[in-house]
Amino acid sequence: MSVKRIALFGSTGSIGTQCLDVIAANPDKFSAAILTAQTNDELLVQQALAFKPILVVIGDADKYQKVKNALAGTATQVLAGANALEEAAGTDVYDMMLAAIVGYAGLKPTLKAIEIKKNIALANKETLVVAGDIVMERAANAGVQILPVDSEHAAIFQCLVGEDNNPIEKIILTASGGPFLGKKPNWLVNVKRDHALQHPNWSMGAKISIDSATLMNKGLEMIEAKWLFHLKPNQIQVVVHPQSILHSMVQFEDGSMKAQMGLPDMKLPIQYAMAYPQRIKNAFPRYDFRKPNTLTFEEPDTRTFRNLLLATEALRKGGNMPCILNAANEIAVYAFLKNRIGFLDMTEVVERTMQKITFLEKPSLDDYFESDGEARSFAASLIQM
Ligand code: NDP
Ligand code: MG
Repeated sequence: MSVKRIALFGSTGSIGTQCLDVIAANPDKFSAAILTAQTNDELLVQQALAFKPILVVIGDADKYQKVKNALAGTATQVLAGANALEEAAGTDVYDMMLAAIVGYAGLKPTLKAIEIKKNIALANKETLVVAGDIVMERAANAGVQILPVDSEHAAIFQCLVGEDNNPIEKIILTASGGPFLGKKPNWLVNVKRDHALQHPNWSMGAKISIDSATLMNKGLEMIEAKWLFHLKPNQIQVVVHPQSILHSMVQFEDGSMKAQMGLPDMKLPIQYAMAYPQRIKNAFPRYDFRKPNTLTFEEPDTRTFRNLLLATEALRKGGNMPCILNAANEIAVYAFLKNRIGFLDMTEVVERTMQKITFLEKPSLDDYFESDGEARSFAASLIQM
């Protein structure tokens, strides 16, 4: 295997830094060709000095000069500003993109990478939630592989290896249940930001941590799974599995099930997607069945965590509804992170935005961009009230 040059979009995040750990541990297999950050110029510079990429992007244009000065005397080129991500994604200096930007902002650079026929290791689930039909169609037409990094989808992907002609009866996405498993609305109403950010099993970025606490993350993952594995809504089931050892399951038409298991560590799905179809030897801790343990499963409490119902509705309705759900959720989550709204208000914002924005059954890419903008404005107007 020759060295695979990785364009790491979102290198300063939780997935981004873990991807760099994988690259650092496997210099004979991977190099970092592009690194990008939005505001964290200091970490970006530190990463650039260590990994010597061809190109870095700092989204916040005000920080361009600072990054440029810090990298003066190196061979790394610096881009900045709103269009720089797409420009970098369209530069033919890499073999695979690891899409690890958070939120809607990840969509356009990923589309650009598909356009120039680069395989995608996809962590940014919002890309598929917003415009899954267009992304998957363009990838198929370009002969581009979309390799899931999200642990549940990476699990399903692994279960499907060698099963090409065997139809799926259903998939079962496991959910940890987040930090508030078992809690009821009268308790959740008082939850504050810092508490919601503490996930029991995974250490992740702020947005996905909140999504995990509200179960919106699992809702987004249902929509992500629909596109990745060409499923109908009724083929996607969610089960709560608080220990996060079974990362998800596939049930085939003979009733037989396959699961992928392991300790919760995002480096595993990251390196699997990067090295696919090979597996890389590592010394990560292993799960030991002989140690006292209990693996439990239960139905999600959708009366309390209504985001899962809203996402299921968006999944069933299709069209631009998942895009609307996602936009409203991003606005709601960032408002919650700024202590502007309460924990349960997030669901309210999403629900009211889904009711308000015009439904389109077969949106174009521009329609998605427009629906995203409309949904954001409306959701933001609810928060100001
Ligand atoms: P983080 O918030 O930790 O990192 C996000 C990265 O994206 C940072 O590099 C950040 O730069 C950059 N970024 C943020 N906003 C923008 C923007 N508007 N434009 C361009 N870049 C931006 O997120 P995570 O690493 O936790 O998550 C990344 C994606 O992976 C998400 O879609 C998430 O759902 C998915 N994912 C994450 C998992 C995890 O364990 N963390 C598990 C499964 C999926 P800066 O640092 O400068 O702000
Ligand atoms: Mg996941």
